[in-house]
Amino acid sequence: MRHKNITGTTVKPLGLGDYNLDKASPLGSMSVVGQLAMTDKSSQITEIAKEIALRQQSRAADIQRELAKIEAEKAKLQSEFHAVNFSHERLGRFSPIRGMQLQCPRCWINHEAISSLRSIGGGDKTTDIFRCNTCDETFALTF
Ligand SMILES: [Zn+2]
Repeated sequence: MRHKNITGTTVKPLGLGDYNLDKASPLGSMSVVGQLAMTDKSSQITEIAKEIALRQQSRAADIQRELAKIEAEKAKLQSEFHAVNFSHERLGRFSPIRGMQLQCPRCWINHEAISSLRSIGGGDKTTDIFRCNTCDETFALTF
């Protein structure tokens, strides 16, 4: 059976299916009223709060581990940034030959390290291959 409300729209009266039976209390617990029931609910709520707090603590530990990883990554990037920033300045001070030895550009630019190159053969009519004595990088240089 349907009723019209004041605005003229049809309103369905509440039937049995409209009640939230999931949250209904059994009759037995409804007989417990007053302070005792409130104390019981209070302790249940406290238990729930403890569980929530425990989950949050676990999450906090995860976050702390994640932050430590990020801090380590940040320190690594800052170190790399510092070194990369120096590369152009190092280029200005690079000596390709020291004594009679060709110098490794990679060792100098990356680490400001002086390292000689040695001829290792294996080139062709127009190139000669050199290898760094420190980092083992090879360079094909034309005659
Ligand atoms: Zn090198």
